[in-house]
Amino acid sequence: MSTVRSKPPLNPVNTAIFVGLPLAALILVPFWGIYHGYDSFQWLWALAFLYLNGLSITGGYHRLWAHKSYDAHPALKWFYALWGAGALQNSILIWSSDHRRHHRHVDHDDLDPYSASRGLWFSHMGWMLREYQSNDPDFSNARDLQRDPVVMFQHNHYVALTVLMNVGLPLLLGIWHGDIIGTVLVVGLLRLVVNHHVTFFINSLAHYWGSRPYTETNSARDNGFLAFLTYGEGYHNYHHIFQNDYRNGIRWYQWDPTKWMIALCSRVGLASNLSRVPNFKIQRAILDTQFERARRKLERADNSEPLLASLEREYQLFTESVNQWKALQAERYERTVAELEGAIEERKAALLKKWEHAALRTKFKELEYSLKMQRKRVAMLVQQVQLQAA
Ligand SMILES: [Zn+2]
Ligand SMILES: [Zn+2]
Repeated sequence: MSTVRSKPPLNPVNTAIFVGLPLAALILVPFWGIYHGYDSFQWLWALAFLYLNGLSITGGYHRLWAHKSYDAHPALKWFYALWGAGALQNSILIWSSDHRRHHRHVDHDDLDPYSASRGLWFSHMGWMLREYQSNDPDFSNARDLQRDPVVMFQHNHYVALTVLMNVGLPLLLGIWHGDIIGTVLVVGLLRLVVNHHVTFFINSLAHYWGSRPYTETNSARDNGFLAFLTYGEGYHNYHHIFQNDYRNGIRWYQWDPTKWMIALCSRVGLASNLSRVPNFKIQRAILDTQFERARRKLERADNSEPLLASLEREYQLFTESVNQWKALQAERYERTVAELEGAIEERKAALLKKWEHAALRTKFKELEYSLKMQRKRVAMLVQQVQLQAA
């Protein structure tokens, strides 16, 4: 890997935004705080803006437009487009196109626009400060978005919208509140800078710090603490393997306000077709990663042939379960097609089908359970290796 790269020239607009604004916030916000002070009205509005911007980026830019993990009502799209413009992270079109490239070429030095392999600083914000080739606009991967009128309106009026949301709204709030400077500093400036950096953590820290339960083929990590800061996007290892799932934190207790917001929107008719990865596939990914890890450990350990043989037997069983699952999926698909073809059948047949569906569901559940048990057995095998090595 080349370590010496000639750096392209600075991008003046981005440098002003991403270096100038944080510096201004660092100086002006404490200064005004000491001489004038802030009140809870301003802090609460700043927090509200922070979440409105953040959720529009994660729920709108990211999970709706970049990954198409659900469909949204036009009202929700307009909401995301406006508050997303307020996050000052470029238009939906540019952001999503970059992000699709990030997933497609993750960790590639030249093709991933914010590749973690180029360092923490580069992936956090260095990539935006200079005219890197990987930033050249190329919307060939976002033709679908170019057909979306909300996306194109926001793209074509981006500057006006972002000024309205970042300057206009805080200014109005300040006039209403009777402290223009203080409100603009906290709700406008400080909130914007905080929102920038927490979102950037997803590209930087979430590719360095955390666990990799689902895949080790890329640098993305799961990290509950980062999820708390990033509106649920910290479960990034899961997200990189199952990018079309509307959830990032799949367990009910995992902090993912974006997933909760989307689920709530679907309840009130603002979102539909929420895509979820089947539990079996998730279990399969975890087990696959565990096999990979166990194999590496065993190959390094002394006298591990018997354990390695057990592991291979387990792997054989795993492959069989996966094949059975695929066969069941195919069966389910065929039945659905047959049902659609003969939609007007008598009630008796419908009842029989219901029973068959239940039986099929049981088979799926059994397979899921067998993978769960297998995960435990593989974990025990790894423990044995560790004991042997100790
Ligand atoms: Zn990523
Ligand atoms: Zn993504």
